[in-house]
Amino acid sequence: MTLRRRIISLLRKTDHFLTAYQIIRILGIDIHERELYEHLKHVARTIWRTSGGRERLVMRLPRCRSCGFVFTDLEEPWRPSKCPRCGSRLIEPPAFAIIREK
Ligand SMILES: [Zn+2]
Repeated sequence: MTLRRRIISLLRKTDHFLTAYQIIRILGIDIHERELYEHLKHVARTIWRTSGGRERLVMRLPRCRSCGFVFTDLEEPWRPSKCPRCGSRLIEPPAFAIIREK
C-alpha cells in the first residue's frame, strides 16, 4: 500500500482528529512533518474525488497555546512557527480527520 493510501486508511478508521506527528508515529514512518503536510494536500483531493464529494478531509486549525490566537487564514496544512499576536512559539499544530456526509 502506498503511503497516501495508508494515511487515508488510518484517517478513515479514526474517529478523532490526528496531528501530523500522531499520523507519523502511528504509521511508524520516517518522514518529516513538512512532507506529511504535502501528502495530506493530495490526500484531501483524492478523498474528495473518489467519494464523489461525500467525504472530506478537514483540518482543525493551529492555535497559539499562550494567547489562544487561531490561524484562520491558513489555506494549506501547515504548522506555523510563531504567533503573530503574542510572538509565542507554543503553537498547537493542525489536526486532521475525514468527515463523511450521512
Ligand atoms: Zn499568541
